[in-house]
Amino acid sequence: MKIFAGIIVFSLFLSPASINAKDSKELYSDHFIIVSDKTIDQQYLYKVKNMAEYFYKTLTQEFKFIRDEPWLWKNRAKIFVAKDRGEYVKQFGCPEWSNACVDYQGKAIFTYPQQKEFSLMLSHELTHIIFREYLGLQQLPLWLDEGMSVYMEHKYEKKPSNDKFILLKKMISEKKYIKFDDLNKLATPELKGKSKGDVDIFYLESFSIVNFLVGKWSRYKMSNFFKFLKDGYNINEALCKAYNIRTLEELEKQWMKFYQP
Ligand SMILES: [Zn+2]
Repeated sequence: MKIFAGIIVFSLFLSPASINAKDSKELYSDHFIIVSDKTIDQQYLYKVKNMAEYFYKTLTQEFKFIRDEPWLWKNRAKIFVAKDRGEYVKQFGCPEWSNACVDYQGKAIFTYPQQKEFSLMLSHELTHIIFREYLGLQQLPLWLDEGMSVYMEHKYEKKPSNDKFILLKKMISEKKYIKFDDLNKLATPELKGKSKGDVDIFYLESFSIVNFLVGKWSRYKMSNFFKFLKDGYNINEALCKAYNIRTLEELEKQWMKFYQP
């Protein structure tokens, strides 16, 4: 069963040098600048541009992620499109094993034409960038960060499958899920040492909590919850203020009941 697109994204800390100026062209939209190799078909670039604008607007509006500095003029995000996969590795310094490269701080995405699962990658990574920018937090529980991105990816997938929910119910009934107190402590370094199966459980569970919070209450309540986090409340305090849920254990109980009534 396919649960996740299996996109392996490499996170860059510094944007690499752009495409050589004499070999490049630029396409501007309201919130993005697409910098690409000159040889790339213009129709393809328009497609990328339209998709990026569509996700930007939809993701921003979904939970009212209004930020102090909108992505306009010089503040636009960039999408770099190399000539092909070989040039993507060579010019951008993106690892051979990666399917996409993202610089979250610099708001830049690195890709190449006809990249596999491009729209899923774009919705997932743009959610990370917009969500982190909105909260303005250095530290965000990984489950919430990834849960939000997978939620948006799932929501805007053309044909989202039900497989996630079948597996989730199985995972709950067989008690194979991660206790919420432990889940909340999981950060990227620990996740890197886990098996593929455990990482899949982590993503599925993180997605399911966001889906539960929106499904049981509303997007409006979820926006409130995020607003409390933005205002500096920790995860327990924000849960209590928005949902009257006092502990992660209580959240876990309600979550379980939601999927296994
Ligand atoms: Zn992610």
